Amino acid sequence: MAGEAGPELRAWVDYFRDLGVHDFYRRGEAGAPAGSEAEAGGFTESSTGEADTETPIEASPLAPPAMKPISFKDLAPIPAECVPAGERAAALEAIREEIGDCTRCPLAYAGRRKIVFGDGSPTARLMFVGEGPGADEDVQGVPFVGKAGQLLNNMIAAMGLQREEVYIANIVKCRPPGNRVPEPVEANTCSQFLVRQIDVVGPEVIVALGSTAATYLLGVRQSLSGLRGRWHTCRGAKLAVTYHPAFLLRDPRQKAEAWKDLQMVMGELGLKAPAKK
Ligand code: URA
Repeated sequence: MAGEAGPELRAWVDYFRDLGVHDFYRRGEAGAPAGSEAEAGGFTESSTGEADTETPIEASPLAPPAMKPISFKDLAPIPAECVPAGERAAALEAIREEIGDCTRCPLAYAGRRKIVFGDGSPTARLMFVGEGPGADEDVQGVPFVGKAGQLLNNMIAAMGLQREEVYIANIVKCRPPGNRVPEPVEANTCSQFLVRQIDVVGPEVIVALGSTAATYLLGVRQSLSGLRGRWHTCRGAKLAVTYHPAFLLRDPRQKAEAWKDLQMVMGELGLKAPAKK
């Protein structure tokens, strides 16, 4: 393996060694434990193409089968008291400081430029959670600033809000190489911080943008169509699932469906669409 291992593979191996995992098998290699073929998968393109069927999380060839999405409900007890509004900005800053120049998962070694922590109001009633930073976000250190971000801004405006009024974050804070889907170990490692951001902001409603966000926030792997159009809960907030803006850019016909999801959210928050000019 040594001769062909790229830096990312090297990082994975080191990561699992740190976890005490020392035996690795290639797909189909003699001696691989039964079931490893089924568990294995490659790096895939961004999952923001929303399949309408069961979408299992692609496992890395090296990921242990136990790496399943952990529901945000099970990550930590929900705090008994909310952080006072005036202290939320500082509480978020403390989380950012704790993250530091993070090397907790392999994404730290996969070409990341900036950690994309989150953006928006620390007292937002509405939070959007996407999948992970893309190229533009990686450069700027701010979530949803590329093309998908422009569409998200339009979606927020259509709801009668400004971007500064909501809070925006991602399941992972570092860009997965090639915009691939975050690996379970990456998402689960990063979730410890997102869960605290959610607890500090204390939104009334969370919108999961796409299947990766829905999968990890809810801890279930289910088709987007099975999750949309109804309320879920997450950390004491109501949670709605809708299409990822990147998917809507590729298939604008689904914008009408996404608008139905946003209208459900607007009804809950008592928001009215701005009058057409
Ligand atoms: N896609 C995401 O899921 N998050 C971003 O921040 C940008 C694009």
